[in-house]
Amino acid sequence: MTKLLILGGTSEASGLAAVLAGDCRFDTLMSFAGITRAPRVPPVPFRIGGFGGVEGLAAFLRDGSFDLMVDATHPFAAQMKRHAIAAAAAAGVSLLGIARPAWVARPGDCWREIASMNDAALALGGPPRRVLLTIGQKDLAAFRTVPQHHYVIRSVDPPAPEALPADCALISARGPFRLEDELDLFRRIAVGVVVTKNSGGPATEPKLVAARQLGLEVLMIARPPTPIYPQTVASVAQALDWLASHVSTVRGV
Ligand code: NAP
Repeated sequence: MTKLLILGGTSEASGLAAVLAGDCRFDTLMSFAGITRAPRVPPVPFRIGGFGGVEGLAAFLRDGSFDLMVDATHPFAAQMKRHAIAAAAAAGVSLLGIARPAWVARPGDCWREIASMNDAALALGGPPRRVLLTIGQKDLAAFRTVPQHHYVIRSVDPPAPEALPADCALISARGPFRLEDELDLFRRIAVGVVVTKNSGGPATEPKLVAARQLGLEVLMIARPPTPIYPQTVASVAQALDWLASHVSTVRGV
């Protein structure tokens, strides 16, 4: 069997695992960072936790005799992507990156493209606003510097108390989200502006449609630069094609 490591934490990784679980050509291991307290259990074996940098991941690949690695991490997981590229090269493992297309503004959208979380906090302006933060739990500290706003923070797990801005309410929820639920939420909490990373993908896109329909401003945090992979694809289907073509290479057929 071809030994495959998937760097996960995304819907693409889950989608790949769902198909590969029944594929006897692959011995698949999923890796999670351990950020989410209760990750969705995949239908393939999995491990949790960092590898210990590039050297740690390279050693993990060598020790486990992995043939292939798919980096299906989130577009904002910039460090893991750099590590994956360097470790795959060091261990001589073929690497594929899944590059999820970014969201693009459509007619009717009221987006401001923002370079960083600090810039997003400043872009909220002086007068108090009602802000929906859908940026995960890692990057909230920037909003503590503008405490005049009321924040509703939606994340999978509750953020650490010390990261929270003074005036905030928490919603613990995991996508995918439906448009009607987003519209309902946005009206209920009377949100005035939505802050989001440009994650791309359909699972959380309904918030953008809801913002468009309600005429709300969206502060769209730009992605970090994507490092250069030996090969990238944009979808799970294309990743499966790549894997199929590499089974024969690995077996020397
Ligand atoms: P990051 O800043 O790029 O990575 C930080 C460190 O976490 C890495 O150096 C690595 O530790 C470890 N790590 C990251 N992904 C890993 C994985 N799949 N398996 C094992 N170790 C991993 O990453 P991040 O932005 O914190 O994201 C962490 C995880 O959450 C990723 O799996 C990502 O797909 C998922 N995620 C992130 C976001 C986001 O907005 N950033 C959103 C949704 C999901 P070592 O150096 O010790 O190996």
